[in-house]
Amino acid sequence: MRNSQIKNDNVVTQLPITLMPSPFPARLYAMCLGIHPTMSKLMYKLATNLPYMEESLRDIIQVDDFTKNLLWVQQLVEREGNAQPITSCINRSDYLLDLFKCEKTDENRLGIRQVEINAIASSMSPHSFKVHNLHGFLTNKYDLTIYEGMRKPQNNSLQFIAAELVNLFDLYGRSDCFVLLINEPRSVNFGEHFAIEYEVNLKRPDVKFLRRSFKDLVGTIKLGPNKELIMDDRYEIALVYFRYGYDPSNYNFEYAWEIRLMLERSKAIKCPSISYHVSGIKKFQQLLCNQNQLERFLDRSEAIEMTKVMCQFWPVDSATPEGRKGFETGLRDFQNLVLKPQREGGGHNMYGCDIKNYLQTIVDSEERQQYILMQKINAPSERNWLLHSDDKQEEDLSRLESPQQLISELGIYGSIVSNGKSIISNESAGYLVRTKKSGVNEGGVIAGYSGISSIVLFDDDVVDIGKFYQL
Ligand code: ADP
Ligand code: MG
Repeated sequence: MRNSQIKNDNVVTQLPITLMPSPFPARLYAMCLGIHPTMSKLMYKLATNLPYMEESLRDIIQVDDFTKNLLWVQQLVEREGNAQPITSCINRSDYLLDLFKCEKTDENRLGIRQVEINAIASSMSPHSFKVHNLHGFLTNKYDLTIYEGMRKPQNNSLQFIAAELVNLFDLYGRSDCFVLLINEPRSVNFGEHFAIEYEVNLKRPDVKFLRRSFKDLVGTIKLGPNKELIMDDRYEIALVYFRYGYDPSNYNFEYAWEIRLMLERSKAIKCPSISYHVSGIKKFQQLLCNQNQLERFLDRSEAIEMTKVMCQFWPVDSATPEGRKGFETGLRDFQNLVLKPQREGGGHNMYGCDIKNYLQTIVDSEERQQYILMQKINAPSERNWLLHSDDKQEEDLSRLESPQQLISELGIYGSIVSNGKSIISNESAGYLVRTKKSGVNEGGVIAGYSGISSIVLFDDDVVDIGKFYQL
């Protein structure tokens, strides 16, 4: 990746990685993989239910222009009638292990809780694939197996995402078209975009990528007579792959929303389509965190499975009894909670005393509508080493003598495609592990909070979890 501190674009550095793979209970990994198609199905159900979305976001859009604009684009596209019936989303559902005491036996146990599901720009698949293999190699070379039953799962995250993009390209039905990858103006994580393009090229050299910043599209894209998306007057775009556009700051140039609207109105397939982007808004996690609400969209058995991995949530608005109760909970129980606005991409959440202090400043404000409170997941710390390219290792070798306390977050990649009437594919494959120092609240790799790891599975009903985690 580029180094965000160094302004020379030709200087690249190694992404932070862990030295060792991270232990993970096999049964919980299987649970996350198994539940993924249901997570994607829920996104589909939301994405195809504009009235529910409008009703759910009604109060938020009074105070949050970003959400309002996203919904506005979706409303316009739906009213006009989709030029492209195929909708798609490559997503990633993120989880933390949850350490708790069994009431009966007083033993430490592990569960799993979903942090969020990312609907746009789900990143890191090439890096996770590569670190998975690197750790496999190191474990073998230095015989690092901690105990005999440990095993590596499969990880074809990169191949999966490349294959999904090819699949979407083919669904457009014309071979002389292009994939448009939209990135940020100065892409720190450009290596990942090229790794995906490279992987696509290995399998399908005919699928060519064009890579543009969002802003570059002003004046260079237009719609053809049948709403074909035409770029530079010569390229017809089959697939728009958004690796940007998830944060309000991404839209702070003139005509940004007009550009997003033009992309969405076009006949090109979008990954994700605006309806899926909206379905990833965190408010839906809060609204759909219990079985009753989930059963509006899912079968009972699916809803029950979902609740096993979901956190507790509260609204904090002043208009409803639940919101007022949530607000009081936030003032009282802030140490066990996370306060989140409707944002993606890191750096927006609040923890501990900050929650109480902040809530007190918005008691009488409409701002309350846009926040949700989430149960804080009690993730256990593993013993591992986080390696940064800017480590001054030669001067400070002592830090390698004893391991750090690190927390790992598992992500499962998935992809859902529908044809306007029903789901035509709903797959999941491949994982990501991001590992951060215990006590650090944020989780982003590019933002510098965490590094890439991989997992080795163990059976937590056979092996004492104290072997792997600080209890
Ligand atoms: P973003 O959309 O900014 O990535 P997330 O909801 O993923 O927002 O939160 C960012 C990071 O904060 C996560 O990667 C995780 O490390 C931490 N985090 C979020 N929610 C919780 C929670 N309920 N308990 C503990 N840590 C959390
Ligand atoms: Mg996240």
